[in-house]
Amino acid sequence: MIYLDHAATTPVPRAVADAMYEVLTEQFGNPSSQYPLGLEMKRRVESWRRTIAGALGCDARQLFFTSCGTEADNWAVTAACWQNRHVGRHIVTTAVEHSAVLEACRWMERQGYEVTYLAPAQDGSITAEQVLDAVRPDTALVSVMLVNNELGNVYPIADIARGLAAKNPKALLHTDAVQGFLKVPFTARSLGADFITISAHKIGGPKGIGALYIGQRVKNPKPLLAGGEQESGLRAGTEATAQIAGFAKAAELRLENLEDKLRHMARIRDYAVERLTAIPDLKVLSAPGGAPHVLSVSLVGWPSQNIVNDLGQQGICISAGSACHQGKPSHVIAALKLPKKVSGGVIRLSFGPETTAADIDTCAEALQRHHDTRMPML
Ligand code: PLP
Repeated sequence: MIYLDHAATTPVPRAVADAMYEVLTEQFGNPSSQYPLGLEMKRRVESWRRTIAGALGCDARQLFFTSCGTEADNWAVTAACWQNRHVGRHIVTTAVEHSAVLEACRWMERQGYEVTYLAPAQDGSITAEQVLDAVRPDTALVSVMLVNNELGNVYPIADIARGLAAKNPKALLHTDAVQGFLKVPFTARSLGADFITISAHKIGGPKGIGALYIGQRVKNPKPLLAGGEQESGLRAGTEATAQIAGFAKAAELRLENLEDKLRHMARIRDYAVERLTAIPDLKVLSAPGGAPHVLSVSLVGWPSQNIVNDLGQQGICISAGSACHQGKPSHVIAALKLPKKVSGGVIRLSFGPETTAADIDTCAEALQRHHDTRMPML
């Protein structure tokens, strides 16, 4: 199998699975229990929190575990609106956010909020000026992702944070960094956001565990789940200890020679551009300078779902866009307002540190065959 869908999820290395296995079987204590098995688990959870906080460049007390990136996104949107309920009822976000943010914003709309959804340029870019122009005195929250999951575009969060401080210092800033964490260099401080979402399964960790960074400007954050005292009383529920162990181990492994891994992924992406652009009718959509692990292209005229199915039959896993439903382009691709022939043929290749040039060769050959043997139908 050739796996070129690392933006969807990633394989878990053996060392991560082993760390989780130990916690599921021998070290299975509940961190709230007061005997040594529980106390030891509490100590370990805090040490894993420090590992992940270290990778994010924040204080461990500012990092809260959630059940996934989606949950962290939902929490950030509602907690920011709650804190700023006296500031106003306006949210600024983009039309290309993950649905975890978009649907949370739509839910706020149903509570009476007004949401500005900024449209990207045709290359997927969103500028800081565009975001800041939309900010008003009654803006409670600005939520802009760090790396787009379908295009790989990197958005200027630090510039937005600086501009926001000047234009509306009360507005809170959230960034969904699920696709940026350990893929593009940043720290919580360098971004300057008040909330940052991350998720384990995009970096070789297990599915079902994410985290939310909550910065110091957020006073008394609204709890996500009411119940026990876990996560400083903000997110009740017995800690998912094995998942947290796996998250920390995955972050630790990714951090080893991280720069080499990022350089390798960027080289693989550039090689894929070189190989794929040799195919007639193939157009690259990802803007230059994007995240190293995502490449969006269109085989102009050939329906993407047929490409994904055809390559899938040959053991090559690529994606037609994360939310491609019933032959319609995803909301991200739709927001680019491309001609139908282009948008209908969009596929995403995404890479990990283990992707090889030979994987790209096999994929490029399969795409060329698809082009040569199938009729364009768009
Ligand atoms: N945000 C982005 C940008 C993503 O790519 C994803 C996952 O695809 C999520 C949020 C959701 O994360 P999770 O799968 O952990 O809920």
